[in-house]
Amino acid sequence: MSAALDKTIARAEGFLKRFRDAPVAHLIDGKQDSGSGATFETHSPIDNSVIAKVARGGAAEIDRAAKAATKAFRTGWSRTTGDQRRKILHRIADAIEARADEIALIESIDTGQPIRYMSKAAVRGAENFRFYADRAPGANDGLSLPTDTHLNYTIRQPIGPVGVITPWNTPFMLSTWKIAPALAAGCTVVHKPAEWSPLTAVLLSEICLEAGLPAGVLNTVHGFGEDAGRALTEHPDIKAVGFVGESATGSAIMAQGAATLKRVHFELGGKNPVIVFADADLDRALDAVLFMIYSLNGERCTSSSRALVEASIYEEFSKRAAARVKTIKVGHPLDPATEIGPLIHPKHVDKVLSYVSAAEKEGATIIRGGRAGETGNFVAPTLYLGARNTMKIAQEEIFGPVLTMMPFADEAEALAIANDVRYGLAAYLWTKDVGRAHRFAQAVEAGMVWVNSENVRHLPTPFGGTKSSGIGRDGGDYSFDFYMETKNIAIALDNHKIPKIGT
Ligand code: NAD
Repeated sequence: MSAALDKTIARAEGFLKRFRDAPVAHLIDGKQDSGSGATFETHSPIDNSVIAKVARGGAAEIDRAAKAATKAFRTGWSRTTGDQRRKILHRIADAIEARADEIALIESIDTGQPIRYMSKAAVRGAENFRFYADRAPGANDGLSLPTDTHLNYTIRQPIGPVGVITPWNTPFMLSTWKIAPALAAGCTVVHKPAEWSPLTAVLLSEICLEAGLPAGVLNTVHGFGEDAGRALTEHPDIKAVGFVGESATGSAIMAQGAATLKRVHFELGGKNPVIVFADADLDRALDAVLFMIYSLNGERCTSSSRALVEASIYEEFSKRAAARVKTIKVGHPLDPATEIGPLIHPKHVDKVLSYVSAAEKEGATIIRGGRAGETGNFVAPTLYLGARNTMKIAQEEIFGPVLTMMPFADEAEALAIANDVRYGLAAYLWTKDVGRAHRFAQAVEAGMVWVNSENVRHLPTPFGGTKSSGIGRDGGDYSFDFYMETKNIAIALDNHKIPKIGT
């Protein structure tokens, strides 16, 4: 281990000390709350040692948090002006930036995500807050829809206290992505972070409070999906649930929320195709294909996990991909040279590795892969070559550094393969043929399509999936459509005839 890495680990340990010293509490109504006293452990993916004990919330803690969020909604936050919310959200963004190093190091240790990516976690989180801060003053805006007899106008109003449930892969960024628009809209929030990586949610709630967000506006309840998560989705005071996670969990949440008629917004799994035509800039395409599956440990909903490559270039392209995969550096997540860190949890490692024997049986060729290192959750990047779309490795979301590559004969076959999965989140297309780019982009079943690009986000654009990949869109004004109710107000000009009934 280098001296520089030793120093970074020591800096991370400094930030982690508070979590090691005392169990992590919920934040309810602006106060630390240990709940029933029950706890669970969060582990380091580097060696599976315990990082911290975390309060394990259930129905009672969720109820307290929902009541605090309801009180804060009714008595204050929903009545603030857009300008007041704008100022507070900017202060939150400032505070996130001021603690960027701490957020990055804790996120990296808690998730195993390489620091080269997590160093931007805080920047992205702050950007989300700034973007929605500036939109808060316009959140209530509506339309004017006049007739000869009535002036109709619409306004948007915050829906109420909402639940936000987030996954473990890039928890800080994803939490800000859901929570910032909810707060900008005037909603209050109960957040249930993922149990495998709960720590940066603590920093977020602390930062918000210190930046002046009133008590009860953002409440954080830790715990497992089946108890805290479930209770949040069933709570009658919670009007909507913004959820990011697996498709199967989305189905469960929809069922759990049915009795209280929850509005739901789901960002779910993906098995995203990247289609490389022979006429593409193949150097740029190769960089993007590899980046979009092997960055962020492949634990990324928009990863390009299926590469469809035109048959005439398949051999050469796959050979170049294989050579590159052999050089990808797996290592300690805090080492800036590391490209793939340890996966989140031993159970997730088992899931990722379980595909190897199935792929072998089905006749795919495996490049690299398998466990890396004696301890921890290190897995080498895996490339499956010569796959067919019917194979498990081409159909199921593996959510690890695993790429399935297969050839296609022509545009029609590429489209058929691309669409022949249950998911429809993102698609990536590489071609210089402008007509084909538009044709394909319009026909491929995905909520988002990038042409000759990797996933480059622009916050005003809609983000979300079709089919089993989600319901609803985030980004820009789309988030306000979810967190707000549109109300129509009709004012008579006193010139219309009112029908008479009776005498
Ligand atoms: P998960 O569905 O297992 O868990 C997500 C969250 O849901 C956790 O906080 C968990 O505690 C909670 N949960 C679990 N069961 C619940 C229940 N019955 N009721 C309420 N809450 C419950 O997902 P994960 O394994 O943490 O994350 C990986 C998944 O997230 C992948 O499928 C990935 O594609 C998806 N994801 C999607 C996007 C997107 O934008 N589409 C982004 C990131 C991750």
